[in-house]
Amino acid sequence: MNLSEMKAALTEGGIQLTKSLGQNFLHDGNQLRRIVGGAELTAADSVLEIGPGMGPLTEQLMGQVGTVFAIEKDLRLVQFLQQRFAERLEPGKGLELLHGDALGYLKGTVRDWSGWKVVSNLPYSVASPILVELALAPQGPARIVTTLQLEVVRRLCAKEGQDDYGLLSLLVGLHYEAKAWFRIPASCFFPEPDVESGCVVLVRRNPLLLSGPELQSCFVKVVKTSFSQRRKMMLKLLRAQFDGPRLESAFMELGIPVGIRAERVSLGLFVQLTRKLCGKAPD
Ligand code: SAM
Repeated sequence: MNLSEMKAALTEGGIQLTKSLGQNFLHDGNQLRRIVGGAELTAADSVLEIGPGMGPLTEQLMGQVGTVFAIEKDLRLVQFLQQRFAERLEPGKGLELLHGDALGYLKGTVRDWSGWKVVSNLPYSVASPILVELALAPQGPARIVTTLQLEVVRRLCAKEGQDDYGLLSLLVGLHYEAKAWFRIPASCFFPEPDVESGCVVLVRRNPLLLSGPELQSCFVKVVKTSFSQRRKMMLKLLRAQFDGPRLESAFMELGIPVGIRAERVSLGLFVQLTRKLCGKAPD
């Protein structure tokens, strides 16, 4: 679907786009192909697409994989897609379309996503919570390829000591490695977004850095507490949540300076600290 087809369909359907739903539609064929290329799809793949909009990405995905499951919040677009892809919506024909809020769906549904890939042009206003929800799911998708605000892409790729490093880098980084990213010019969207955009490829770690729900939720607690006040020393913040002597010996054994702030501590060190604070004590 090129730009003039998109504009014509919107006019014909009487659809006025809603800014709060992040309705900036991608119409550039090269960028769509690059995004799909990042997913390294095979015919056996199942793909979750969040926010299909008018379906430019959905169309490309359906040509390459077994199943596309798309969740769209805007009923007008769901109805548009039902017409556009009527044949593919028949049982066993490769497309399942759900009208709903993807974040609510992910939070409220326990599902094994391990055989799935996510390929999306996410609505920017809810992109970070959706990513965290997917990334921390017990059985998360094998790969996530998504278009985001460039600032969020930078956070996902940032390492300790860099300006963009923080909570999102660590919460997503625990289970996913950012393998690649590229910039997408604003002119590739309709309407053009006010912010810069990029696409990132996240690949699930195998093996995971921490296994088991207890250690993973402890990691989330350690990281959230450590970043709760960015200017404060991490050890002081953690004392409010964890046993003081155990904390101090963990810092000493791992060689973490007591005066350090969270933004200078690597993912690897947060993982080791989690094991020391919440792992089973040695016999
Ligand atoms: N994939 C299309 C494209 O590339 O042109 C549309 C992408 S547009 C950036 C984001 C889409 O997400 C819109 O269609 C919007 O209606 C939908 N959306 C916004 N919030 C949503 C939510 N919470 N759950 C599901 N879809 C949502």
